[in-house]
Amino acid sequence: MEDLRIDIPTVEKYMKKPLLPYGLKRFIFYPAGMIMTAVGIALSLTLFLAIIGIPLFLAGMTLLVIGGVAQTVQCPYCDKSNMVRERSEDFKCKRCEKPVKISWIYEKPRP
Ligand SMILES: [Zn+2]
Repeated sequence: MEDLRIDIPTVEKYMKKPLLPYGLKRFIFYPAGMIMTAVGIALSLTLFLAIIGIPLFLAGMTLLVIGGVAQTVQCPYCDKSNMVRERSEDFKCKRCEKPVKISWIYEKPRP
């Protein structure tokens, strides 16, 4: 049988010292952002409630980005910046669709 393993390149990504502990971001910012985004979409389906829904949706998305859930990683093949979830192991480039592994490097806090 043929060896189907592909040599996937690894991108090193430095993680900044978080302003908030990761647990807090994961269990408060992320669910809050998701709920606000979902409720925003639901309210936007009704024309009248879209006045409340759209700002709620935008606020939810902002919360997800501020919460540090999303990070940008550059594709080693085509230099395209891809949005990935923090601490995800790999991603598929949006432009060239090639798989790339991510190696997260934790920046040590200064003594
Ligand atoms: Zn690419």
